Amino acid sequence: GALSLIYLVLELSLKETYISFKYTNKHSIQNKLWTDTIMTHVFHRHPKQSLPTAVAGEGITLIDQNGKRYIDASGGAAVSCLGHSHPEVIAAIHQQIDAVAYAHTSFFTNEPAEQLAQFLAQRAPGDLDYVYFVSGGSEAIEAALKLARQYFVEKQQPSRRLFIARRQSYHGNTLGALAIGGNAWRRAPFLPLLTEAHHVSPCYPYRDQGADESDHAYATRLADELEQKILQLGPENVAAFVAETVVGATAGVLVPVPGYLQAIRRVCDQYGVLLILDEVMCGMGRTGHLFACAEDEVTPDILTIAKGLGAGYQPIGAMLASRRIYQTLVDGSGFFQHGHTYMGHATACAAALAVQQVIERDQLLHNVRVRGQQLRQGLHQTLSAHPNVGDIRGRGLMVGIELVADKQSKTPLDHHAKTHTQLRRVAMDKGLLMYPMGGTVDGVHGDHILLAPPFICTAQDIDHIVELVSATIFEVLPFTH
Ligand code: PLP
Repeated sequence: GALSLIYLVLELSLKETYISFKYTNKHSIQNKLWTDTIMTHVFHRHPKQSLPTAVAGEGITLIDQNGKRYIDASGGAAVSCLGHSHPEVIAAIHQQIDAVAYAHTSFFTNEPAEQLAQFLAQRAPGDLDYVYFVSGGSEAIEAALKLARQYFVEKQQPSRRLFIARRQSYHGNTLGALAIGGNAWRRAPFLPLLTEAHHVSPCYPYRDQGADESDHAYATRLADELEQKILQLGPENVAAFVAETVVGATAGVLVPVPGYLQAIRRVCDQYGVLLILDEVMCGMGRTGHLFACAEDEVTPDILTIAKGLGAGYQPIGAMLASRRIYQTLVDGSGFFQHGHTYMGHATACAAALAVQQVIERDQLLHNVRVRGQQLRQGLHQTLSAHPNVGDIRGRGLMVGIELVADKQSKTPLDHHAKTHTQLRRVAMDKGLLMYPMGGTVDGVHGDHILLAPPFICTAQDIDHIVELVSATIFEVLPFTH
């Protein structure tokens, strides 16, 4: 009896805290208590961590339940390219919901999907003319893998079922995407994976390019490795080679050396292997070009995009397929044997269309290139003398910092120290969101930081980000001159 009375009092007082908080806070949000392990019913990714509640967004800033402000220097993970609470995107979403939020794609098409597909197809390189809308990056990859497979079945080449991808790659967490992904740690608990994939070296100049090796020689060496892998597996068994145009997660931004993607394209063509480029993170303007591969003058057969497409306003991803592939299905079965309930979602497409129209109208890709350069230069100035900063690299507003224990040997930091976790915590204390990762370097853990600020950043914002990133690194990894 006494115990249940204490319990009741405790429950009432907690409820009161919550309610009083809810009505006194101008954003009417939940008390932080709800994110504590005991109270939450959300299946959190890291159940032992207590997270602040995001309650508002303003340009490049996110605001939590206590009114604390965070500069979103990673755009989540390279998602929020227009910043937060953009009025035009919000208006487009409202307008679509008022008209029709959703209608199943078995029965209807919808205007925003048609317009967005046209927008993308007109701007995509080569003949990537057909756009298949899904809800995110992993779904786009799954669609790409299945399309590659079905293409060869319809072409009467059913033995082509193998995929080749690269080590230190990330293509998503669903089982097909995980199978082609090259991150040993993410894959390990789920082996053996259903889709058979083989891996070759990534284009990782900082760790892999010889000091005297030219970009051309390095690109040729990697293309030769791919060729050997295709020959070893038998070209008649290989469906596609999958690669991120610019690597994001797991290796802290890897920019290919000039000529690498072209060399890879030639090898794929020689053996009739499809090239799938994954631009889920690096696409949609993140590198300063709407499609990252356009800068490398390479057109894949299938391209995946997601994060920047809807900029986080709605969950959306897409797969773009070449005319040749689409036509094969049209002339063959007349049907892509795939689909999701929420594909081509009208509200998601309306949000993405508004995002892309704003980016184009405001010429934000120019800003991405200029601010990206400023960001890299600023980081070089403040951090290159730091003994644990091994490399600072990137393209546009997709910037990576690779941390090492020793600059000379490039030995990764001891992964037991979980430096990336400390970096995230200290950065958040300082009001900065950056995306530190404990990736793998040849099976050994290595720590990286991903920076991907919104395309709307001003010069002043970038200076502030540089200052906060440097202060965070110097606090977690102290170093006195
Ligand atoms: N592909 C790449 C290159 C990515 O960076 C990601 C996510 O980080 C994915 C695929 C998976 O996307 P999603 O998390 O939307 O499923």
